[in-house]
Amino acid sequence: MTDTVKYLLDETHLPKYWYNLAADLPVAAPPVLHPGTMQPVGPNDLAPLFPMDLILQEVSTERDIPIPEPVREVYRQWRPSPLFRARRLEKLLQTPAKIYYKYEGVSPAGSHKPNTAVPQAFYNKQAGVKRLVTETGAGQWGSSLAFAGALYGLEVKVFMVRVSYDQKPYRRALMETYGATCVASPSNETQSGRALLAQRPDHPGSLGIAISEAVEVAAQNDDTKYALGSVLNHVLLHQTVVGQEAMAQMDMAGDYPDVIIACTGGGSNFAGLAFPFLGAQLRGGKKVRIVAVEPAACPSLTRGTYAYDFGDTAGLTPLTKMHTLGSTFIPPGFHAGGLRYHGMAPLVSHIKELGLIEAVAYEQIACFEAGVTFARAEGIVPAPESNHAVKGAIAEALKCKAEGKSRTILFNLSGHGHFDMQAYLDYFGGKLKDIQYAEADLATALAKLPQVKAA
Ligand SMILES: *Cc1c(COP(=O)(O)O)cnc(C)c1O
Repeated sequence: MTDTVKYLLDETHLPKYWYNLAADLPVAAPPVLHPGTMQPVGPNDLAPLFPMDLILQEVSTERDIPIPEPVREVYRQWRPSPLFRARRLEKLLQTPAKIYYKYEGVSPAGSHKPNTAVPQAFYNKQAGVKRLVTETGAGQWGSSLAFAGALYGLEVKVFMVRVSYDQKPYRRALMETYGATCVASPSNETQSGRALLAQRPDHPGSLGIAISEAVEVAAQNDDTKYALGSVLNHVLLHQTVVGQEAMAQMDMAGDYPDVIIACTGGGSNFAGLAFPFLGAQLRGGKKVRIVAVEPAACPSLTRGTYAYDFGDTAGLTPLTKMHTLGSTFIPPGFHAGGLRYHGMAPLVSHIKELGLIEAVAYEQIACFEAGVTFARAEGIVPAPESNHAVKGAIAEALKCKAEGKSRTILFNLSGHGHFDMQAYLDYFGGKLKDIQYAEADLATALAKLPQVKAA
């Protein structure tokens, strides 16, 4: 074992710590603001929604956060997740590049999301919480939290974005199998849901709306807390088990990435893989190019404004500075439901502003084409979200080929697509379209951004 591996992993090859990027940032990220007072929020402002252990992680600037042993015990069921070299894909593309991928589809729910669902449920249970309420897009997060809730005997209620609820009935079945309840959002169960249904009974929903419904329920019930599957600092923190393992695994392979690629919805699988490598770079280590890949139909990093905005549609959450399409923007109903979010994690937005990462956007048909190429070469069928990362990695490998340069590419295969086969059927049947959002809708949503004086 090298010193790097010994520092990162215990004797069972599991990371000892989550890595906190806040410790190594050259400039701290802007503060989160209270929507009433426009002053930075304190831990007590967040207490109705989250248990204190998670709030303290949210604001921590310590570099290494120990992973509690009971959480590590659960992680061991599927972690460390495998890191593969995609040799057959390299051959198919005839690229001089080396392509590695970290495969997160080996978790019980089939994606990276249980990496944070498990510690979130653990800390809530410790704090005496009885019920967790949340939102889900494609259903990956809802099923991950349902799984974690089952582990700790917590009730779980999930507001699932209406288009995905209709497109992906088996994700709902999975949540119910784990004992959770799942309702289509917007729903009749909340004030914000009822208001939207009154305007438009066939409302397709959005992550922003489902978050409003979940936050409303959590704020009104003492025994209930809210859990978020992406975006927040503590969620990104938990996902760094992915990058910590990948660093050790690349080290064992005697290699180091030149380029790191991941898809971005709220930014958590991207941060999970990239932050430990970025931290090493910021501490004087090797420079890595880091590329975020987002859907062209919901392009927060490439087309959004960097501004203070709400995390939800009804304006119930604190204000965070992020790349946003406007919290009232309703992205078109394309298939990568987990990427249909109007904003981006504040930490990911911040490092984009600092010039530490790049971002590109691709249309969904090109992403499915890449996913099918990958499946035929490597045997794993990626989730529609992960197809964006696959597309990014293939584009990079073909660039290496055109330039006659060998580079080491590492990407995050954030989940498998076994519950998303309808999307593949639509792709094969020629029914998939590259959906454009209306520029006027984006302009309207951006015009409604909350007015915040330079903080
Ligand atoms: C939820 C999800 C995503 C997008 O969320 P991030 O927080 O950006 O990672 C990507 N891939 C899969 C498989 C997902 O389930």
